[in-house]
Amino acid sequence: MESIGDIKIKIGLDLDGVVCDFFGRFIEEVNNTYGTHFTKADWTDYYFSNSGLPRDHMKRMFRDSMKYLDELEPMEGALEGISKLNEDHTIHIVTHRFLEGRLNTLKWLDNNKVEFDTLSFTPNKGSLAYRLGLDVVVEDTPEMAIDIANNGVKTLLYANLYNHIEHPLISRVNTWKDITQILT
Ligand SMILES: [Mg+2]
Repeated sequence: MESIGDIKIKIGLDLDGVVCDFFGRFIEEVNNTYGTHFTKADWTDYYFSNSGLPRDHMKRMFRDSMKYLDELEPMEGALEGISKLNEDHTIHIVTHRFLEGRLNTLKWLDNNKVEFDTLSFTPNKGSLAYRLGLDVVVEDTPEMAIDIANNGVKTLLYANLYNHIEHPLISRVNTWKDITQILT
């Protein structure tokens, strides 16, 4: 993608794995619960199916994570990046978090002084991105990125070990510096 220059665009941002360091904390919770010693290097599958831990336990831990969403660390460079993007563009947060996490989500955004235009909770990010008329979305979950791209919306895939995918509308980014360079 070329530099956007003076054009104001609508930027969609996923939260977990893009803005918030969800997995940093989630892995800690898994280790505390199961006495394991996993690190981010072990997270090569988004649903952690390679961990040997039962899928239904993982699902429950994802649900329980709604209780500590307000305590997550920001991803490196994310807060500075968002405030830079917000100077020239509009910010639309699109998350797949459960609805019971909405108060903690708002609390985190407020505590971290994140300015945004809209906030949506949905499992159907692709159709929402299309309906909101987003120009680009930054996302890390492979299935979500493909769904967004299949709705004709350009996607910046925040690179991680669990998301090696190829699509004509998906480009990989490694840092928030990359994101701000592409979008400003
Ligand atoms: Mg995510």
